[in-house]
Amino acid sequence: MQPLRVTIWNEYLHELEHDTVAAIYPDGIHGALRQLVLERWSDAVVTTATLRERDHGLSDELLATTDVMLWWGHKAHAEVSDAWAEKVQAAVLSGMGLVALHSAHLAKPFKRLMGTHCSLRWREADEKERLWNLQPSHPIMAGVPDQFELAQEEMYGERFDIPEPDELLMVSWFQGGDVFRSLCTWQRGHGRVVYFRPGHETYPTYHDPHVRTVIANAALWARRRLTRSDAKSPRVTEFESVPNPTKEHI
Ligand code: ZN
Repeated sequence: MQPLRVTIWNEYLHELEHDTVAAIYPDGIHGALRQLVLERWSDAVVTTATLRERDHGLSDELLATTDVMLWWGHKAHAEVSDAWAEKVQAAVLSGMGLVALHSAHLAKPFKRLMGTHCSLRWREADEKERLWNLQPSHPIMAGVPDQFELAQEEMYGERFDIPEPDELLMVSWFQGGDVFRSLCTWQRGHGRVVYFRPGHETYPTYHDPHVRTVIANAALWARRRLTRSDAKSPRVTEFESVPNPTKEHI
């Protein structure tokens, strides 16, 4: 198998603006994600890109040669240009995988791919989160126990305004009583889309071994399997002769 080509896109603002976040993620959230991918898939080719780089760190060539993109964003979704959001969406339709993490539920490319508001209920109350594994035989669940807990997380609650997932792999329960569809997959065009809930920036969630396993597995599962744009409808001239309808046919 060819080495997995991963692009990690991160907004990279909280880490620069808040000491508490910088202490948890000294190399940025993208740095922690990069590390977890390389920990599992040591021959992966990992590129990182951040919001305020030129073209958000993206290029047409990078999108064409990315097998799967991880996306974390929160407070500056609006700063992502519509043009690049459309290009990321088109890349997925052509075969690239997208793993949207935590507050990327409102990221422009994810919303475009879903076609819904992707809104949800939320609360920051340092709550315990318990994630339940609903599909232990699914490749993304390899090595993930039947349930695991995060000592403190932000709560995301239903209703999560997403289209019905093709697969629902994990459900979260929170100390305050709320539940949430935490790990969902969809096929869009030729690409696979994954949403995984945990990852609020003020908690060390991306250092949790089970969370790291899920993300690494999701990156592999969602990888590009082919590249095919289907962007235009070709006019075809070949046809098979159709017999004239007879009365019986009508
Ligand atoms: Zn958050």
